[in-house]
Amino acid sequence: MEKPIYKYSEEFAREMDQKDPLKSFRDRFLFPQVNGKQAIYFCGNSLGLQPKSVQTYIQKELDNWANLAVDGHFHGEDAWYHIRKKSKPALAEIVGAHEHEVVAMNNLSSNLHFLMVSFYQPTKERFKIITEAGAFPSDMYMLETQVKFHGLDPDEAIIEIHPRHGEHTLRTEDIIKTIQENKGQLALVMMAGLQYYTGQVFDMKAIAKAGHEAGAKVGFDLAHAAGNAPLKLHDWGVDFATWCSYKYMNSGPGNISGVFVHERHAERPELPRFAGWWGHDEAERFKMEKGFKPMFGADGWQLANSNVLALAAHQASLDIFEEAGFSNLREKSMLLTGYLEFLIEAISGESGVLEIITPKNADERGCQLSLLVHKGGKAVFDALYEESIVGDWRHPNVIRVAPTPLYNSYLDVYQFARILEQSLQKFA
Ligand SMILES: *Cc1c(COP(=O)(O)O)cnc(C)c1O
Repeated sequence: MEKPIYKYSEEFAREMDQKDPLKSFRDRFLFPQVNGKQAIYFCGNSLGLQPKSVQTYIQKELDNWANLAVDGHFHGEDAWYHIRKKSKPALAEIVGAHEHEVVAMNNLSSNLHFLMVSFYQPTKERFKIITEAGAFPSDMYMLETQVKFHGLDPDEAIIEIHPRHGEHTLRTEDIIKTIQENKGQLALVMMAGLQYYTGQVFDMKAIAKAGHEAGAKVGFDLAHAAGNAPLKLHDWGVDFATWCSYKYMNSGPGNISGVFVHERHAERPELPRFAGWWGHDEAERFKMEKGFKPMFGADGWQLANSNVLALAAHQASLDIFEEAGFSNLREKSMLLTGYLEFLIEAISGESGVLEIITPKNADERGCQLSLLVHKGGKAVFDALYEESIVGDWRHPNVIRVAPTPLYNSYLDVYQFARILEQSLQKFA
């Protein structure tokens, strides 16, 4: 669809909803009640809504467990022994990979540690890690403790890239320059794909290229990117990546993560790893013998047998993604977030009370917009919640709102804007 001329009117929002080819997907999700009303839910960046189908998917596995017990491991098409394979086609499409490059397992923070065991191998000369300043706390702790695990000093080994003075987001040229400046000493570039605070999508293709030219490995944390921004991990040549499934992938609180390992590492048994039996050659797994032989591709990084109930909830959501089609979702997402941006700018006007720190260029962002609230702060946010709007507040003065293309409507965005305007009149 061509970008329409946006209007700040309920009629316009309703028209857009009418024309929306994905409008029926909203009915597939369960919306919470806030203050006695169905929420306007803009928090899919933190926890995506529950697909109604999740119950059926989980119930099926509960029934298999009840009826088959241990035989469920090898019974039928969805035998638990192979159940991980089911999510591969959808995941491969979402992150831009071959099926053998992805697998769903563990949690994000665990996976990033396991991947760094393989891909952060510091030497005396080459030991530095480049990351973005203000990374998500778990990522900061992971880098800090990985570096210490190798007996190194985080202050020396970790290089954080900051925005320029007076700017909120990073310039690709500055990221590339930092990589080049550390060429001889750089072991790893490990950044977010989409920065959780600002909503900026980094130029992963350019970063991967520069990182490799500098002789480093390149990995991304895609917690906020997977299921949200377009990804081409294979083509970009990224070495590894991991993500969670409970944000834009709507798979339930704390649910399973996924990993990507580039094909070029698919058959490298010499890579260091912390192995478990589920990463061992499937054909020989039950010989129960010594000598770890990794499976081909990302599967060779698995440790433990599949979390079947977690995968069931994940699959309910992945099937919806496949049905909707990622490129259709992205198209709507750009229009929806574009509308949100238009309305915020209309409300803020000359006053400058709201400042969007997320990049203006739609290619450099996903659903989320981060708003600096220059006056009224938390009172404005609390007033939104009073009116059943669920977004999130980040200290000291940022509101993040993320309309998602699967279950948010243009009317949601319009109503948000109306209520925001009223709150600002009261508190700013
Ligand atoms: C949400 C998020 C996490 C959360 O990690 P878990 O292991 O799933 O708790 C980590 N990193 C980033 C960048 C995130 O956005």
